[in-house]
Amino acid sequence: MNGTSLQLMELVSSARNIVAFTGAGISTECGIPDFRSPDSAWKRHAPIPFAEFLASEEQRIEAWTRKFAMDDLYAGAQPGRGHHALASWARSGKLLSIITQNIDGLHQASGVPADKVIELHGNGTYATCLSCSARHELSAVRPLIENKCAPVCDCGGLVKSATISFGQSMPKDALLRAQDACRKADLFLAIGSSLVVYPAAAFPVFAKECGAELVIINREPTPLDSHADLCLRGDIGDILAPFCTG
Ligand code: NAD
Repeated sequence: MNGTSLQLMELVSSARNIVAFTGAGISTECGIPDFRSPDSAWKRHAPIPFAEFLASEEQRIEAWTRKFAMDDLYAGAQPGRGHHALASWARSGKLLSIITQNIDGLHQASGVPADKVIELHGNGTYATCLSCSARHELSAVRPLIENKCAPVCDCGGLVKSATISFGQSMPKDALLRAQDACRKADLFLAIGSSLVVYPAAAFPVFAKECGAELVIINREPTPLDSHADLCLRGDIGDILAPFCTG
């Protein structure tokens, strides 16, 4: 084990309230690419901006068609070593929360209780009504889209994947819970995020200002590296594998 890995071991061992901030990089070993890779399928099936989704049924059908094309590509993705390390900390009582930019539901699938996962960009495994917030299952939406018909709620509202699209407001409750977690963290780990998407990328520096030790784990440099107490440059699964227990 090298010096930086030992430092991480020591930080984790003395921490009582770990908050993890995760981005697409924690799920790449599960087969879900990050956004910025040159050949990313997210570019071939680019999400439709919120204003366009609202503007016409044609765009809503297109948005749903692209969403299901992505779901089909990554159906069956299972949590990776990074997810399992965080789940181990949840089991041992060290993990306060996970603030995630991901929409794949893999933290919950790894066994982290849902109330510890703060989803800043929503969740792609179900849909909601934009008017009354009723939950709709994707299995009910898919046949409608196959018949070129966009789903509408019983209340008359538009039904959309429960993710936050470009141009759509971030969920206030999630932002407030994330701020609260930052204030309480003694160790804040930013894992697999390019840390360029705001306001989400403000959380690591806020947590540091509130007194947490800041660790950044990513295979590329990020604009926030100079704020970190420790930067681990490498593969997330390799770095966090020693923490996967039980
Ligand atoms: P990003 O694509 O901007 O950055 C991911 C970072 O992770 C990159 O810097 C990359 O170098 C690094 N990385 C990738 N695999 C890695 C690995 N195995 N080990 C170490 N580092 C690795 O992702 P982001 O910052 O999360 O933001 C993109 C947006 O796209 C988010 O808002 C998110 O909602 C969305 N998104 C979500 C998913 C998902 O749910 N899995 C996937 C793609 C995009």
